[in-house]
Parts: sequence; C-alpha cells; structure tokens
Amino acid sequence: MKFVDMDGKVVRQYNVTHSNNSSKLISQPGLSPKTEEAMTDYMKTKEGRAFISQFAKEGDVVGGYKFTENGALNDHTLNIWDYSYSSETANVPAESGTGSYEVSKDKTSKTATVTIKVVSYASYKAEIGETLAHEMQIHGYKVADQINGKKVNSQNKDHQALKNKDTGHKGYLKYKSVQEQLLTIDKDYKQAFEQAQKEANILYK
Ligand SMILES: [Zn+2]
Repeated sequence: MKFVDMDGKVVRQYNVTHSNNSSKLISQPGLSPKTEEAMTDYMKTKEGRAFISQFAKEGDVVGGYKFTENGALNDHTLNIWDYSYSSETANVPAESGTGSYEVSKDKTSKTATVTIKVVSYASYKAEIGETLAHEMQIHGYKVADQINGKKVNSQNKDHQALKNKDTGHKGYLKYKSVQEQLLTIDKDYKQAFEQAQKEANILYK
C-alpha cells in the first residue's frame, strides 16, 4: 500500500507521548516542548539547517525555521521521533539522552527513509541538542552518499572518530562546528558536549 502524504511534508516529526492499554506506544505529530526548544537552537546552526534542508519541501517548518525551497533529497523522507514518554514500569525504548540514526531503502520505489530517534524524557535541553548533533552530523554527514548507494563509513567508524576527535572525519568536523555555535546560544551546551565526549571514551572501544 502506498502511503498518501496528505500535507506533502517530507520532514515528519513525531512525539511518543504515552502507551495505550495494550502497552503500545502512542505518538502525535510534532516534538515535545523540550525537544522543540533543542531543535530551535539546533536549527540556528549552519550544519543543522543544512542536514534538514536536504529533505525539506518548501513550506516545511522545523524548529521554528521555515524552508523556502525544496531540498535535493526531498523525494526521500526524514522522520524524527522524539521519545518524551517514560513509564516507571515498562516500555521505555532506551536510556534517556541516547538516540539513533538509520537509513532504510525501498527497492521498488527507490526512495529512502531516514529515521532519527532522540530519547528525551529525562534529558535537559542541551543534552537533546547534543543528541541531534550526534545523529545528524557524526552519522548523518554521509546521508546523501548512503541514499545514492555509495560505500560509506560504518557507525562504529563514526564513533571512533568522535572518541579520537578525528578532524579527518567530515562528520566529526561538522559536529564540532555545531557545538561551537550552540555554545554561543546557551552555556548549558558546554556540559552536554563534555559529557558526551566522556561517554564516547567509555562506550566506544
Ligand atoms: Zn552514534
């Protein structure tokens, strides 16, 4: 079945807000207020806008920024999932402050779906902003190549670059640039990026 996109938007945002009686996670369009704030900061960075703009159609609004033209990859879909929901008992999809980046391709329609997840329920704004930068820059710098079927770095290689502060890695360079711009917006980003670097040193062997 072909999904008919009534509003024609190709950057889609979903906020996972609760679970129903059968423990199924329920979402609604848009981001949670805290993630929206982080996205608003992120969209003030050159690299943040550049990543999202690839998928935007004229008129799309992300983080308060309105796109005025179609992006080069607007035939493809960017889904941003915000897990703002946490239950004390179950159904927490991942630890707060984590995220993921995934590209899946439909062989028939030759279109790709890029899925960014941010787990925000117990995170502060700057931590969410760091996660957006991690997923869309450390990993997402290669998204056009991935969609066009070129060979790209594994996520493990991207993580090694972060750990080693490898300025030869394009994604790391963009991530650092986003970091510098976010620091001029809110000093809380200092702690968030330092914490992420510390975690990278432990997590990525
Ligand atoms: Zn990662």
